[in-house]
Amino acid sequence: MSRSSASRSAIVIGAGLGGLSAAIRLAGAGYLVTVYERQPYPGGKAGTEERDGYRFDTGPSLLTMPHVIERIFADAGRVWTDYIQVERLPVICNYFWRDGTRLHAYGEPERFAAEVEAVTGEPAANVLRYLEHARRVDDAASELFLWKSLHDRRTFASKLFWKSLLKVGRIDSFRTLNRANESFFRDPRVVQLFNRYATYNGSNPYRTPATFTIIPYVEYVQGGYAVVGGIHAIPRALERLAVELGVRFEYNTTVERIVSMPEGRRRRVTGVVVNGAEVPADAVVSNVDVSVTYPALLADEFAPQLQRYRRLEPSSSGLVFYWGVSERFEELSVNNIFFSRDYRREFAEIFDEHRCPTDPTIYINITSKVTPTDAPDGGENWFILVNAPYVGEQEWERETHRVRATVVERLSTALGRDIELLIATEGIMTPVDIERKTMSHRGALYGISSNTTFAAFARHPNRSRDYRGLYFCGGSAHPGGGMPLVMLSGRIAADLATYDHADA
Ligand SMILES: Cc1cc2nc3c(=O)[nH]c(=O)nc-3n(C[C@H](O)[C@H](O)[C@H](O)COP(=O)(O)OP(=O)(O)OC[C@H]3O[C@@H](n4cnc5c(N)ncnc54)[C@H](O)[C@@H]3O)c2cc1C
Repeated sequence: MSRSSASRSAIVIGAGLGGLSAAIRLAGAGYLVTVYERQPYPGGKAGTEERDGYRFDTGPSLLTMPHVIERIFADAGRVWTDYIQVERLPVICNYFWRDGTRLHAYGEPERFAAEVEAVTGEPAANVLRYLEHARRVDDAASELFLWKSLHDRRTFASKLFWKSLLKVGRIDSFRTLNRANESFFRDPRVVQLFNRYATYNGSNPYRTPATFTIIPYVEYVQGGYAVVGGIHAIPRALERLAVELGVRFEYNTTVERIVSMPEGRRRRVTGVVVNGAEVPADAVVSNVDVSVTYPALLADEFAPQLQRYRRLEPSSSGLVFYWGVSERFEELSVNNIFFSRDYRREFAEIFDEHRCPTDPTIYINITSKVTPTDAPDGGENWFILVNAPYVGEQEWERETHRVRATVVERLSTALGRDIELLIATEGIMTPVDIERKTMSHRGALYGISSNTTFAAFARHPNRSRDYRGLYFCGGSAHPGGGMPLVMLSGRIAADLATYDHADA
């Protein structure tokens, strides 16, 4: 325990993965931590739902960079495998194209490259060369961009910053992901497969920088993972660790306001209001979307940081169908993609025309392949995700109806069975539901999009400029959305709070 932070108190607003990570790190530094969460359970977007004997993860489905979780536990003196069981997937994803091509994306580079060559004719050597290029980008970018604040003087004074600066030419940020993929591969199916990785942060492969070749590198080289018991087991494991470290959780408790007082030209945060009463704290970490924190919790509609944030393009959203299916499909694995015919058109519809694609790429995740109790005997729990625009003027009822019919028809054709007849139970989550349930700006899955060269620098800092003692974590703050990144944001926010108090 650091002496300077002993007996200091911190409040974390929201028990999403970012908030949980922040709470654990702060408790480890000696803070007395309370987490307020308006839902009855932790996880936020990484929630869970039961329907007629089928269990579904509500949001994220594929775990990458599990070393981030391992590190959270190791830093707290624990072994993560005592809390959570993950399985490295031998086949990360099964890909299906409309021309009948089927490809197993093995989670081992040589085997994957050989499969790409056998199925598409694209030389295996091109895949391996691509992953080697991506490794160099990762080496140049990851540590600085993901593990550190980009808005703290200590980062810029560090050796790591200067080392990274020397490598900055390698991060391939001046061409798009699609351009980079076309330069490595001739087969359009292989280009489409690697373009898909832009969706891992809700971006458009025809605009996002080629720096995101890092994502396939991470997936094929470091591995894609499923979690026994489903993704929701991650927030549950983090909650358990936090409780062991003394963190107090108040569920079904909405923070009504963050309290602050003037301090020079800025303000200083002194606590929060819950159930009408003020609770004091030395530091407040908001895991709530930036676009909600300023107007709703700080009553600061005109904060410059908020105005700036609102001008940035949100990431894409998703239209989700939770289908309890009464049969098993051997040709499906844990993760499955059924590609659209025209990928460029699909992204133009999502990001330029702001409507659901007429011919969407369909993703199916089936956790019952790993955790059989997630579905009744003989059945499977299908989590189906279609990329969708962030919330605007769309008519969601009509859009949902149209997309659902397309998904049923496309899957029935591809799998040779009338899927409509096999749906035993159904739930639906539209972008508007995502916005309402998780308070994420315009229902974006990953905060702001990464559709510009410098998007990494545009995210909201983890420390407030205008409110001393206020910190931000989660998908809307640096380094962005996705499970590993939001957990890193919690760590960065907590470390900034600890540094600031040591400095004070
Ligand atoms: C459909 C879908 C699919 C996804 N797929 C993947 C994937 O495969 N892989 C991946 O890595 N990521 C994926 N993501 C993204 C990932 O889920 C998110 O980036 C991550 O879970 C967000 O965590 P967060 O820390 O930002 O908090 P959130 O999950 O947004 O949680 C914020 C919490 O704050 C609480 N809160 C809000 N206001 C208050 C208040 N006033 N008082 C108290 N509590 C409050 C909310 O109830 C919520 O629990 C997906 C997301 C969705 C929705």
